[in-house]
Amino acid sequence: MIRYPILFFLFLNYSCSSFSRNPSYSALQENPRSLFKMAVYLEELKKITESSSILELETLTYSDGFPVVLVTSKSDDNKEKPHIFLNAGTHGNEPLGVDVVLRFLEIYARTPKLQNLFSLCAIPALNPWGLTHFKRRNSKNIDLNREFKTDATSKLILSLQERLSGQDYAAVIDLHGAPKKKYFFTIVNSKNDVAAARTMAKLPSEELLFSRDGKYPGKRGSYSMIAPGVAISKNQGTLKSWGNHFLKAPLSYTMEYPGKREANHTKKLYLEILTSLIFEILQIQGKQEPR
Ligand SMILES: [Zn+2]
Repeated sequence: MIRYPILFFLFLNYSCSSFSRNPSYSALQENPRSLFKMAVYLEELKKITESSSILELETLTYSDGFPVVLVTSKSDDNKEKPHIFLNAGTHGNEPLGVDVVLRFLEIYARTPKLQNLFSLCAIPALNPWGLTHFKRRNSKNIDLNREFKTDATSKLILSLQERLSGQDYAAVIDLHGAPKKKYFFTIVNSKNDVAAARTMAKLPSEELLFSRDGKYPGKRGSYSMIAPGVAISKNQGTLKSWGNHFLKAPLSYTMEYPGKREANHTKKLYLEILTSLIFEILQIQGKQEPR
């Protein structure tokens, strides 16, 4: 029997200290408009994968002239474990998710206990052109998070579909940010979702997006709120819904960080929320019948 809570606290202690490392990358985080430098990002990814015998790096495709890079658990290590797909950097003006996925990969690469629990596939920066220019959309003014449709024609999304199909996924998690908001929230596919509800309930209430009238279910802008910090969205063509329908992941999420809060506090908390969500997913997965 795996003791998730103990491992979770070990992980958090480790994760909190990891933010002070990697000064070369962290220094770039101080000016939000120069957050993303492709060369620095690739160097960071290379360092993380080379520190591990279990992760490997591949170029999925090129998008707007930039490589879109995938980090995966090596295929011989990929069997019989829940497999999780992590994505970030779809919207280039929401860059903190990129750093959070990099820190998560760094911890995973150095923590055999985590590697034994689940395998992963991660794209930390899906829209490198947008990140480089601090723009939500890509160079063709397309919002990639509305393009994940069954009849997708984008080369990037077709490459992703071809590369990721043929694998069972326990969950898909897409890291975003809400530039004008002060609070965290997670968008779920089903009002019965347990993992996100448990995760967000652990946060102090001042960090969470509430419904307008504080009642649940309730409304907040275009979102239906089913609990503090847990929302349902009507947006079509999102990676979250694609994860559910195309990759057949039973659990699929869009996570949102507040763009109006201090960046270092936000990153630290975002990594903790992501970690907690993954542990809640693993708990649920552990209770399911084997596929
Ligand atoms: Zn976004």
